[in-house]
Amino acid sequence: MAEIEEIYGDPLIHPQREDYWGHVNPLGIRSCYDEGKRCAESLFMSYYREHGIPVKIIRIFNTYGPKMNINDGRVVSNFIVQALRGDNITIYGDGGQSRSFQYIDDLIEGMVRMMDDTPDDFTGPVNIGNPNEFTIAELAREVISLTGSKSKIVHLPLPADDPQQRQPDISLARNMLGGWEPRIQLRDGLLKPSPTSRRCFRGEESGGEARPARAKTRPQPIRKKRQTTRGLPLSHSSLPVQPVNP
Ligand code: UDP
Repeated sequence: MAEIEEIYGDPLIHPQREDYWGHVNPLGIRSCYDEGKRCAESLFMSYYREHGIPVKIIRIFNTYGPKMNINDGRVVSNFIVQALRGDNITIYGDGGQSRSFQYIDDLIEGMVRMMDDTPDDFTGPVNIGNPNEFTIAELAREVISLTGSKSKIVHLPLPADDPQQRQPDISLARNMLGGWEPRIQLRDGLLKPSPTSRRCFRGEESGGEARPARAKTRPQPIRKKRQTTRGLPLSHSSLPVQPVNP
């Protein structure tokens, strides 16, 4: 079961260990997101206890990588798209909130090890993430620097109940997943090359319309204008290219 760090809500314990029960507003605008995730874990564990159904739970922290949807709304893809277009980089709040960003390859390695290398009766949950923590303002500066973009940073209102900090404690993963360790740090992950990324972003790839944003209950990004870019989802590895102004 691929769970996420949203389980912990806006955590009061830092970094977050798996035995922390979280700090969630059950009525807030993120509540169906947070509580939905918590309910799913609860159901899986009930099936495990009641019916002996094999269960393995990982909790995935903020992850990025190639082929994210340009309309995804998450911070890494938003900032890259904005930087490449020369649009304003939209920081919600003062940018002092933090996240710990994991490259997709590290996540997949952790998932495979969880499935293949742990005892049958080991359910987890296990945090899978990269504990290197950045503020959102630092991420914005890094993206601008790597793209050479002329984009300006603007500050927009912080969505309600936006978690202030997130950092996984990955001790359990290190112990249980055969020495698993995140290998790819943020700057390297953002720079990873992909032959199709720029074409995808500019809509030169055949394959039609950009996918609509996935349905989600997290706060949606504030968009200045309607997304019109055609093509497949942007790869974050398009960062080394020059800013593109469609
Ligand atoms: N964020 C931002 N600008 C954006 C998108 C997100 O400042 O264009 C902030 C958001 O408010 C949050 C952080 O970036 O504090 C991470 O948001 P994301 O939706 O990527 O992940 P999550 O909040 O689920 O960890």
